Amino acid sequence: MSLNMFSKVEEIKGVGPKTKEIMEKAGIVTVRDLLYYLPRTYENFTNTTRLADIRPGKVVVRGKISDLRIIRTARRNFTITEGVIHDDTDAIRVVWFNQPYRVKQFDKNKDYYFTGSYDYNRNRYQLTSPKAELASDVDESRAMGNGFKPIYSVKGSFKSENFKKVFETLRPEFAFIPDLLPISESSPDFVKPGCRADALFKAHFAEDEKEVKEARKYLAYEELFELILAANLNKRENQKLRASVIPFNAEKIQKVVKKLPFELTNAQRRATYEIFKDLEKNVPMNRLLQGDVGSGKTAVAALSAFAVASAGYQVAFLAPTAILANQHADSLNELLAPFGITVALLTGATKNKPALKARIKNGEIDLVVGTHALITDDTEFKNLALCIIDEQHRFGVNQRQKLLAKTVESAIGEEVISGSANSEANSEKPLKTSTSSKEKSAKSEKIPDGSLNPDFSALKKPLAPHLLMMTATPIPRSLQLAIFGDLDVSVLNELPKGRQPVETKIITELNFVDELYPKVREYLKSGQQVYWICRTIEDSSLSETISVKKQTEKLKEIFPKENVVFLHGRMKTDEKDQIMSEFASGKINILVSTTVVEVGVNVPNANLMVIMDADGYGLAQLHQLRGRVGRGKNAAICYLVSPAEAEPAKRLRVLEKSNDGFYLAEADLKLRGPGEIYGSLQHGAMSLQFASLTNTKLISAASNEAKKSAEEFSKSPELFQKYPELSISVKKYQQLTTLN
Ligand code: ADP
Ligand code: MG
Repeated sequence: MSLNMFSKVEEIKGVGPKTKEIMEKAGIVTVRDLLYYLPRTYENFTNTTRLADIRPGKVVVRGKISDLRIIRTARRNFTITEGVIHDDTDAIRVVWFNQPYRVKQFDKNKDYYFTGSYDYNRNRYQLTSPKAELASDVDESRAMGNGFKPIYSVKGSFKSENFKKVFETLRPEFAFIPDLLPISESSPDFVKPGCRADALFKAHFAEDEKEVKEARKYLAYEELFELILAANLNKRENQKLRASVIPFNAEKIQKVVKKLPFELTNAQRRATYEIFKDLEKNVPMNRLLQGDVGSGKTAVAALSAFAVASAGYQVAFLAPTAILANQHADSLNELLAPFGITVALLTGATKNKPALKARIKNGEIDLVVGTHALITDDTEFKNLALCIIDEQHRFGVNQRQKLLAKTVESAIGEEVISGSANSEANSEKPLKTSTSSKEKSAKSEKIPDGSLNPDFSALKKPLAPHLLMMTATPIPRSLQLAIFGDLDVSVLNELPKGRQPVETKIITELNFVDELYPKVREYLKSGQQVYWICRTIEDSSLSETISVKKQTEKLKEIFPKENVVFLHGRMKTDEKDQIMSEFASGKINILVSTTVVEVGVNVPNANLMVIMDADGYGLAQLHQLRGRVGRGKNAAICYLVSPAEAEPAKRLRVLEKSNDGFYLAEADLKLRGPGEIYGSLQHGAMSLQFASLTNTKLISAASNEAKKSAEEFSKSPELFQKYPELSISVKKYQQLTTLN
């Protein structure tokens, strides 16, 4: 075989067109993709316990199963499947929750391996939700060498065993896997020649836990190195761009500040000041404004927008939902129109888009607030100088780039070469910036093969807008360093005066009549409003969660005098906007909604929220949802509804305890463990495969090395050709983590 990392999987012996298609769907196109498709877990069948000897804890047992049956519980949406596992020595009880298919899965005459936890639960010992594998399959692979078995995630009809076969075919090739990272004196001791081949081999053919650990350690390091290198290169690239200088005009700004219906918090003042400082520079601002829900990010954005618009430039303000865009447009218009700023709204529902777009293009509009509709190709600006992206984690990197790219085109017109196709011509253009002579000489090094050059061309465009990104989803410091390098961050670590923390309570449906309904009545009576969040829009046979529609009917019966209205993402934009504005103006008393109200929405008079089936949401999402209440001076309460039959998820308890998004982010990191990031949506397409962001030691080792490499690579870009694979991954990460 003459395979290399970039060979297509179909070149591997035994991989036919059907397999290729399945793999492709799973994102596995090249040999490299395949090698990095690691086992989901490993099962250790070397230590099987006889049932007579079983002790509480994690166990592997082998036996037959009988007496399978489904028990329906009082709770909708919840089934228990139970049965008996027996071997020659004894029998134990086994249960699965919400896996009714288990009754049909087993052949009662065959042996299976069951891997799970044997615990005391509901007055007896039982094996809870074990994984099951046909014993003959396992024994076969055991005969081949060992009882330590990699388990791959199933892809379509392609099973773990199929993956194993492919890797067996590849086995002789592992020795030829080239190193990927620069290896130097200062590299950690496990980064040495051959380390990558070794790690990948161990990952797929591990014989024990120790080998798995070693493999993952190297791979995590490699991943972090690539990521941090990309972040550092981005930072360097950004310094080479030119931005419009926005002079600070204290007098004008003061007038707007005076018009705000509140005093700015110190945190808001500080953040605004940091932004104004950036705007005065001739390199683009690259700032993340991080502030917990309700901390008042919008006011900071509004002042920044005003500074730029009143200096004669345009501002684009991107929001993830039409509801939110609408709301921002209204409040910005109210605040800024009296100062001569023309504000427009551009969403999918906007009537006569061509006319509005013409006004944006000729500069009549100073500040345009919009959704994705703003990013379409035919929106052009006259002199866009600031992009504000609200709830930035909601946007993919491509969307952000598209917005920024159009800026550049509009800013210098004919002169600009757009798209990477012209990257070579582009990189020859002299920069009109005040870069240092050192950078200039680095720049003049031209790389013949643009595709391997991670200095991707969009970053080389001479003029770029300032960028302000806002998020309520805190990024743990370790992560910040890793993915954004030295990104500038402003933090709103102070809530407006008079805010009270939202009281949070876990309840079950058993408490509705005694506790919940009276509380709802109390809030309604005092003229306040209520959010009622459901997971689904319509009832379906597949899911037993209560739907928005059903809940609405129910509430209309319980609260016949109130105006109960539902809202969900599949409604027309016009209709959604209408409902949202009726809710904002107080015409609607109870809004039953899906999570479309999750981000950004601001109705300070709504101070009670009920979240049905709260166990089904992640911590970050629950915190965001809860953030819709408690936005005014009144005390707010949030009920998390959890099933009566089971312990509520740990994260609900964490939420009960704390209102602090930063604390919650750290807690979430701990609860979820390695590899997963708080709110996986947070970074667009970004999520780490191997590295744990709690491993600060590994991060700092990778960071030291990557920073050195960033310096060397930007000094001599031809180095990228020496490390073709690294170049490609770094380029990918650069696109993911770039803020421009
Ligand atoms: P977020 O940071 O979640 O985007 P918003 O900008 O929507 O928060 O602000 C939340 C609420 O707090 C809004 O009703 C806003 O008018 C109000 N607010 C913002 N800043 C202050 C302040 N300094 N004092 C009092 N209320 C404020
Ligand atoms: Mg907001």
